[in-house]
Order: sequence, then C-alpha cells, then structure tokens
Amino acid sequence: MNEPAQQSGAGRAQPLLPAVQPAHMPLVLVIEDEEPIRRFLRVTLEANHYRVKQASTAREGTLWAVTTYPDIVLLDLGLPDNDGLNVTRAIRKESRTPIVVLSARGQESDKVAALDAGADDYLTKPFGVGELLARLRVALRHAIRAGGPGAGGVDAAAVYECSLDKRTLRIDLAARIVHVTDLGAGTSVQTSREVRLTPMEFRLLALLVRHAGKVLTHQMILKEVWGPQHASDVQYLRVYAGELRKKLEVDPAQPRFLVTEPGVGYRLSEPRPPAP
Ligand code: CA
Repeated sequence: MNEPAQQSGAGRAQPLLPAVQPAHMPLVLVIEDEEPIRRFLRVTLEANHYRVKQASTAREGTLWAVTTYPDIVLLDLGLPDNDGLNVTRAIRKESRTPIVVLSARGQESDKVAALDAGADDYLTKPFGVGELLARLRVALRHAIRAGGPGAGGVDAAAVYECSLDKRTLRIDLAARIVHVTDLGAGTSVQTSREVRLTPMEFRLLALLVRHAGKVLTHQMILKEVWGPQHASDVQYLRVYAGELRKKLEVDPAQPRFLVTEPGVGYRLSEPRPPAP
C-alpha cells in the first residue's frame, strides 16, 4: 500500500504532527470501580494537563501500576475483587509511585491502615477539584524530592514558608529558626518575632515540614519522633501538637497551619509564599 505522506507535494499543507503526549505531563493511574467517578476524574485531570490511565478492578490496577510506570496512583479502597489495602501493599513491593487513596466517609481506620501500608495521602469522597489537584501536586513534589533527579540528598524543604490570612510562618530547618510575622489589621505594618521551641517540639515540627501538605498518621509521627516503642502513645502527640499550636497559630482552637485530620493524624499546610 502506498503511503501518501511520503510523496512530498510542493504547495501542499504541512502534514499534521503526530499526537505525541509531552513527556512532562504526569501520568495518573486511576483505580476505581465506579464509572461516574472514573469519568469525573478523567475529565478533570485531562483538563488540568495530566494524562490518565484507568482500571476498574484491583487486579487490573495492580498490573497497570507496575507495568505502565504512572507518576501517581489514585486508588479507591472499595474495589469489587480485592481490598485497596492489598493493592497498596502489592504496589509498594514493586514501586515507590505515590499512592493517593480515595475513600468513603467513615472509613477512618481504613485510611489509617492504607497510609501505614505505604499510601501517601487520601481524599474523602465526595471531594472537590481543588482538593484533588492540591493532593496530586503535593504527592508529586514529595516523589521528586524523595528520589527524583536533583534531589541529591539535599533537603529541598529546608525552608518552609506559609502565609494564611494575616500570618506568615517561616521555618528554617537548618538554622533551627522559626519566625512568625503578622500583618496588622487594615495596615501594612508587620510585626515579626522569633518563636522559641523545645527540642521535642522542634523535632515534631521538622518532621511535619519535611512532609508539608501531606497527612501523617499518629503512628508514623510517634514512631519517627518518639521511637517505635511509643507508636501508640497518641496522648503525647496531642500534648505537643497543642503546644505547637499555642506558639504558631493565631487561634490555637481554629488551627490553620497545623491541621487535624480527624481519626487519622496531622497535616502541616502546603507551603504558600506570602503575596507580594
Ligand atoms: Ca468503590
């Protein structure tokens, strides 16, 4: 059969370029059995410059996860043929691809189990587009930091800066300095002060900064900060989180920086540089 494209014709229109997917568009593998949610995810993700691959069973999802090298996996916990937890474990045996779990409300223990099994974060259904995109950004950023080119062992999150409402929190891990800057109501006057932390408070905060934007379970934090023998001493953590909030939040009862994930753990807000 003749290939018409090989006959170069002067004055003809330029042949269309092949539809190559740019390499920088991250590939998201969606493992979800509910068709309307899959459709919503595909439309939303493609509109936001992600490539999407979909699976509707645990078996198919596990296979795609280890053979198609997705940049991120969105995993429903309730799948018809197997538990999302087993899928998480199976993927983790083969790959470090970030896994963001999708779960229904009231599955707190499942979320915790999935995170402890190696998932990176979770979204509770129903979730908004903004929340979905924020979680994906955070998970991708952590993946790049953990093993991507340029990571080189240097802690890219050595300085954390986050502005919410009228307060800016700046944490320099290397210098061990924590600064709070407030913008006076209706003025451009700023007041800035250094916050003194105890060594244990600093250890806890440093862990949260290194995982900023990502949820950490109580058990993960306790193991990391207090040691494996304290993995179930949630009360320690409540006390220290409370102390940190008194020092960092405008209103410790309504925390904006150090957020509680009910029944799961804590999340330090994603870094947000102050508006110019
Ligand atoms: Ca489901």
